[in-house]
Amino acid sequence: MAWDFETEPEFEAKLAWMREFLATEIMPLEGLPVEIQNDRNKMDELTAPLKQQVRDRDLWAAHLPPELGGGGFGQVKLGLMNEILGRCGHAPRIFGANAPDTGNAELISLGGTPEQKKKWMEPLLAGEMRSAFSMTEPDTAGSDPKLLKTNAVRDGEEWVINGRKWFTSNGSVADFLVSMVVTNPDVHPYQGSSMFIVPTDTAGLNVVRDVPVMSHPDHKTGEPGGHSEVIYDNVRIPHANLVGGDEGIGQGFVLAQKRLGPGRIHHAMRWLGQSQRAFDMLCERSVSRYTHGSYLAEKQMIQDWVATSYAEMQAARLLTLQAAWHMDKFGASESRVEIAIIKFYGAQVLYNVIDRAIQAHGALGVSTDMPLELMYRAARAARIYDGPDEVHKVTVARKLLKNYSPVEDIPSEHRVNREAAAKAKFADMLDQYV
Ligand SMILES: Cc1cc2nc3c(=O)[nH]c(=O)nc-3n(C[C@H](O)[C@H](O)[C@H](O)COP(=O)(O)OP(=O)(O)OC[C@H]3O[C@@H](n4cnc5c(N)ncnc54)[C@H](O)[C@@H]3O)c2cc1C
Repeated sequence: MAWDFETEPEFEAKLAWMREFLATEIMPLEGLPVEIQNDRNKMDELTAPLKQQVRDRDLWAAHLPPELGGGGFGQVKLGLMNEILGRCGHAPRIFGANAPDTGNAELISLGGTPEQKKKWMEPLLAGEMRSAFSMTEPDTAGSDPKLLKTNAVRDGEEWVINGRKWFTSNGSVADFLVSMVVTNPDVHPYQGSSMFIVPTDTAGLNVVRDVPVMSHPDHKTGEPGGHSEVIYDNVRIPHANLVGGDEGIGQGFVLAQKRLGPGRIHHAMRWLGQSQRAFDMLCERSVSRYTHGSYLAEKQMIQDWVATSYAEMQAARLLTLQAAWHMDKFGASESRVEIAIIKFYGAQVLYNVIDRAIQAHGALGVSTDMPLELMYRAARAARIYDGPDEVHKVTVARKLLKNYSPVEDIPSEHRVNREAAAKAKFADMLDQYV
């Protein structure tokens, strides 16, 4: 029987190195001028030696199997690693684990042709290319991709794509987009959508803007981390760019599930690190700030925040690691409920803990002198991207409710039913007593 909460010593040593490396080499990058942090080329140059150290320790692209140049750690170990990386926005790129490239590399590795792996996935893994995932549209509900309108029509050995997408994260700095479009409107969307690899320099592909969002209201198009609005105006793509080739026609939803499952859990893992960072600030401030005759830490309301935050974080952590274990054992598609739970629960915990940390800091908490206000603005979107909370709750509730059957008139726990059942079960004994 295996029911274990311990980390094996060899792997714990890797985690210890990662913690130290993050604290001493990566976190200081946050102190650089924002213009440098937003400059893709300068940051690539600056962080190249750090990436090399990660490679030297075989920790690069830990999410991928070794044959694809990754560490092949599996989801549980990945969870523990991402928890560390989640503390700092720069860390995933330095470890070859930044979204959306991770998901796209995984998608091409699982569903791409050998040529697609060579041409697109390998440079992505080597950190030589950037990618984006282009599914959501402004004119249809992203929570229901069956409604997608952007379409591709075959023309000989080419496909012609037309439509409009938005929130294609990193679209304006990407070398290619993985685009989910309708290829056959006459069948159910589950069989009528496909994915294409669309190089961003293709004629007709127009990145209109990066949509300013609450986490980055001053974002300039062309900086990493933007959410691009993209018009596809008669974009001609060779058939060779249809993910999976002939076999990929109509496979868009299957591929999306393969991509989004791991992507969601990787987010949840990183939220653990963000929550812990906010929690550390909450506690440090609580033991430092003196008001109304005592330190904040001595006031029961603040103690409630500390205890509640810790309990919520522990719950989110255990749920995330359990979902990771489930994925390792049964695969991503069999773990949809576990992943859905941590997607909505983890996002809410992240939000709650940052909110309490801000409150404990008073005015300082909402000032840009602390990272909390940006963390808070970024955390809000976690309840929407990769599917809003409500959709994940529907997934969970539907699955759970399948375990129940309707009863007629009286609930099965009603006293009338229970007395009747007891009479039947213990009839012989009751005869003796009465
Ligand atoms: C920061 C950020 C990054 C993103 N990155 C990407 C990306 O890289 N690529 C990409 O393709 N997309 C991306 N998205 C888009 C994201 O996936 C969509 O926003 C999300 O799927 C919701 O779609 P929507 O915005 O169209 O909302 P809608 O589908 O219009 O939903 C609006 C609201 O309706 C409610 N709702 C929806 N369904 C139900 C239901 N069944 N029951 C009850 N209430 C419901 C929810 O409250 C939901 O928030 C990103 C979004 C954000 C915010």
